[in-house]
Amino acid sequence: MDECVFCKIAKKEIPADVIYESEDIIAFKDIKPKAPHHILIIPKKHIPTLDDITDEDYSLIGRMFLVARDIARSIGISEKGYRTVFNCKSDGGQEVYHLHLHLLGGRKMHWPPG
Ligand code: AMP
Ligand code: ZN
Repeated sequence: MDECVFCKIAKKEIPADVIYESEDIIAFKDIKPKAPHHILIIPKKHIPTLDDITDEDYSLIGRMFLVARDIARSIGISEKGYRTVFNCKSDGGQEVYHLHLHLLGGRKMHWPPG
């Protein structure tokens, strides 16, 4: 069975511009950035959507946000602010079915989102 694209990035089977890595989380630049800074933070294990997380993932999800906070500081967007987003399934606009936290910054975000 073909693995998903983000599993392949986590296993270094396809290239990505990786900016953070730990035992169970990896973060890399989005290939089609929607803002001057657009980074994806993913668990290395395959979780399809936010709807699939379990109580066991409690710490993992929290640490994904701490990674987002630290990356935002390191790339200089934490003072002005940024947006973090989990798109969930089709109505949420999810295209890649491997959980990922978007970190977007470097411009003023719109609200409500489209
Ligand atoms: P979503 O619509 O929330 O599923 O977001 C998926 C994101 O993954 C999009 O912003 C894509 O541009 C991005 N993406 C898809 N394939 C790759 C890839 N190979 N490397 C980096 N980002 C990717
Ligand atoms: Zn996957």
